[in-house]
Amino acid sequence: MTNNKIALVTGGSRGLGRDMAINLAKNGNDVVITYHTNKSAADEVVAEIEKFGQTAKALQLDSSDVKTFAGFFSDLKDYLENEKGRESFDFLINNAGTGLYVPFLETTEEQFDEMANIHLKGVYFLTQKAVPLLADGGRIINISSGLSRFSFPNSSAYGAMKGGVDVLTRYLAKELASRKITANVVAPGAIATEFGGGENKTNEQKRAAVAGATALGRVGEPEDIGGVIAFLCSEDSRWINGQRLEVSGGIFL
Ligand code: NDP
Repeated sequence: MTNNKIALVTGGSRGLGRDMAINLAKNGNDVVITYHTNKSAADEVVAEIEKFGQTAKALQLDSSDVKTFAGFFSDLKDYLENEKGRESFDFLINNAGTGLYVPFLETTEEQFDEMANIHLKGVYFLTQKAVPLLADGGRIINISSGLSRFSFPNSSAYGAMKGGVDVLTRYLAKELASRKITANVVAPGAIATEFGGGENKTNEQKRAAVAGATALGRVGEPEDIGGVIAFLCSEDSRWINGQRLEVSGGIFL
């Protein structure tokens, strides 16, 4: 049995989730990350976290496929009980996600469903199934996007789902308050990861457009986000609830 808090970061194998997991560990939390297909990247994050003296575990999850959630939570429960001596965890960070850049008039039903499944339906039901395992006083942080506040061409399906996540989060904050569980949104601006084919890393035209629209004048890096998640899982942020915090260097102000 450990006194450390335990965070579950979906999509913790790469990009923003990786940096969130590492910052949570730096703050003294133990971490469970999930990956979809890239086990070796997840294993590297586990090794990185262990360097900080925290425990880490990587579990496979397809967060777009609700049918698989019962099996995932059974794996998580086994891990918590057998290796952590606990029946609960403390922080759920719904981060996993994929990008799609297609004009509204060309977006297909399949693409829409793909976005809905991973960014809205998956988040909704993963959270529903996670809550019984979440400790009283726990925290839920949903990763949304600047694109739920402003529109940038070719992101209508993605942005609409993130808008749904913003609304869902306010409901979670209200309905889970009897157990003192808080729920907040972190909405990053464009961040240079492999997301959506890595456009924010490699497409110089887009990078210049983003930098030009951002008060602080550059594209974001994963390191701009992870520490914010660690703060939102710390004692100091206990009174923040039902909020959407945009972490973007000030884009489209
Ligand atoms: P990356 O592509 O860098 O990483 C995506 C992560 O999600 C990986 O860990 C990946 O696992 C996992 N993942 C992908 N598909 C699935 C799936 N079907 N089921 C479970 N896990 C999956 O993306 P980012 O780190 O950039 O994005 C993370 C979150 O941040 C997303 O919700 C995204 O919408 C949001 N966001 C990103 C922004 C950006 O500009 N990058 C801006 C605003 C919000 P694996 O390694 O196995 O592939």
